[in-house]
Amino acid sequence: MALIVQKFGGTSVGSVERIRSVAAKVAKSFSDGNQIVVVVSAMSGETNRLIAMSQELQDRASPRELDVLVSTGEQVTISLLCIALESLGLKSRSYTGGQVPIITDSAYGKARIEKIRPDNIKKDLDSGSIAVVAGFQGIDSKGDITTLGRGGSDTTAVALAATLEADECQIYTDVEGVYTTDPRIVVEARLLSEITFEEMLEMASQGSKVLQIRAVEFAGKYGVPLRVKSSFTEGAGTLISLEGREDMEKPTVSGIAFNRDEAKLTIRGIPDQPGVAAKVLGPISEANIDIDVIVQNVAKDDSATITFTVNRTELDSAHEILSEIAKDLGAEEIIADSKIAKVSIVGVGMKSHAGVATQMFECLASEGINIQLITTSEIKIAVVIEERYLELAVRALHAKYGLETGN
Ligand code: ASP
Ligand code: MG
Repeated sequence: MALIVQKFGGTSVGSVERIRSVAAKVAKSFSDGNQIVVVVSAMSGETNRLIAMSQELQDRASPRELDVLVSTGEQVTISLLCIALESLGLKSRSYTGGQVPIITDSAYGKARIEKIRPDNIKKDLDSGSIAVVAGFQGIDSKGDITTLGRGGSDTTAVALAATLEADECQIYTDVEGVYTTDPRIVVEARLLSEITFEEMLEMASQGSKVLQIRAVEFAGKYGVPLRVKSSFTEGAGTLISLEGREDMEKPTVSGIAFNRDEAKLTIRGIPDQPGVAAKVLGPISEANIDIDVIVQNVAKDDSATITFTVNRTELDSAHEILSEIAKDLGAEEIIADSKIAKVSIVGVGMKSHAGVATQMFECLASEGINIQLITTSEIKIAVVIEERYLELAVRALHAKYGLETGN
């Protein structure tokens, strides 16, 4: 008998009709002889609706009260799902985070799970019952309700799977699984049957928003096999695994990730001396602004230029801070550019293949696309380009690496 944790997102439980079909899916896995723990999100749009109501009253509601508020969305879906399971003649029991209990720290709105006591759920499973747990929420040591951050139900599911040593954690969503790239941009994008955690993290952090990144990290750390599947079609979905495909040597590039969330800042004409990079970038980090790509070069006149990217929403704050620094350092100018995009090729197979980067650069050159910045890791090469070329770049690279057929 296998123990499976199944998580259904907001769209999958978006109406009573859909909750009925989730119940049918759960019933099917149960009657196949598995022990089932279900984690559900709030009905789609519900968390936003709740937040909007609080904002009508005031902008800065206390975080404790906000968590009491938004946790109600999931409480609705656990009970409705149990009622639907009951109507199919199945035994089930619903749990809020506090009832499991899922114990977290007290960081309202972005709480971290500290411990899960699984005894109640284990008893249910042993007695032939299905456990239905509210995602996204927990309880702190004072007994206050906490929530884990937007999209946090994925993390609840993975944490439960890790604690219960589940055989698989299945994330049901509104897509079939993880694709070689966004099918809305490349119609030939192919569903991947398997991807490694490392690759998934690169794909996710680069903008393939299938799973909450934190949940993927968690699953990797605890070795929980994760499977992304569609709640609306059959299909095996994508398995995210530690080892990766058996034919791992074969594909060099597994997918193309991209995002338009970044913006670029350049500071020119600063001294080329020890300590200057720290002076430029230190105050930005101190302001809690994440910096992604960083490039420094030195001109003929020995002055230095530093270019870096930040999240587009933080461009203005970063620009302000940089203006102060520029005065101190006597910099020549600052250039801000929000019309950029980042495109990455991702694949564990790159570790053992030379020449992948050259292929990428040649491919972009043949499309007349200028590369502004380059950054690499063992399993990724990312370039920053002008935003208007993004779709062209993704399509060209997808074809270049034969991703539509998997060669
Ligand atoms: N309902 C929460 C949200 O909308 C948590 C989740 O869906 O995972 O962010
Ligand atoms: Mg979600």
